[in-house]
Amino acid sequence: MDKMLRRMREYLTLHAISIYGAAPSSLLETAPAGHRPSDLLPDSQGLFCVGVEVPGGVLRVGPRAEATYWRTANVIYRYLDAILARCATMLEETGELAVPVFGCFPYEVKGKGDFWGYVSLVKMAEVSGLGKLGKNGLLINSKAGPRLFLGGIVTTARLPAMTSSGSLETGCPQDCFVCQDACPVKAIEPNGKVDRLKCVRHSMRSPLFLHLLKSGDVPEADIGMLNQVSGVDDHSMYTCIACVAACPLADPATGHQQ
Ligand code: SF4
Ligand code: SF4
Repeated sequence: MDKMLRRMREYLTLHAISIYGAAPSSLLETAPAGHRPSDLLPDSQGLFCVGVEVPGGVLRVGPRAEATYWRTANVIYRYLDAILARCATMLEETGELAVPVFGCFPYEVKGKGDFWGYVSLVKMAEVSGLGKLGKNGLLINSKAGPRLFLGGIVTTARLPAMTSSGSLETGCPQDCFVCQDACPVKAIEPNGKVDRLKCVRHSMRSPLFLHLLKSGDVPEADIGMLNQVSGVDDHSMYTCIACVAACPLADPATGHQQ
């Protein structure tokens, strides 16, 4: 296992991944039923989580920020997902099982537009030492603030607890409420709870999915897959990133430092 972990670290370094960590999967076994590590992979023992930074300048290009953030997400998520798949096969070379929890897709849609990943990546990242849950519902990392795309792995391997940075993750300052003030639909409550439905309705748009729905005859059983196919990566748009753009910790010049 030590040899494999060393190879995995070398692989991550080679691919410019400097933010990652591992933790026992038992730490997330109190998550809602259906979204626990053991719901994804019976006999799971370990979690591995990776973060890729979004360039700070992406958020500083005024009206072009949403489209630039959208394209950044498209390319980073694919890159991240391929790295996760490779790391999972490396873990399996030790005789264990490992399954990637990809950064964006697939997800489950509950009710009218509440998106749930198979296992919460923000929680995986938090227990793996990559940062703290911020008041905007995103992970706050000591280097990148909320400018981090996340992916993970659930595995039957018992991984030693580790974090790449070794920094003390502190999350949001107690007296900061900038993101709450910046949210145009007041989706972030004063206690830091995010109304995800309110946020998703305002911040995401999938013209292709809407077009398909309006075409009429879509069987109920196909709606989930149509949503996944037409709403992922290049097919959907960000229509709001105000809470990330306004966050003082998102600025590489003034945000957190390692
Ligand atoms: S993305 Fe927009 S709508 Fe969603 S919480 Fe942030 S500011 Fe509010
Ligand atoms: S704006 Fe302030 S409260 Fe909101 S996520 Fe950033 S640091 Fe946290």
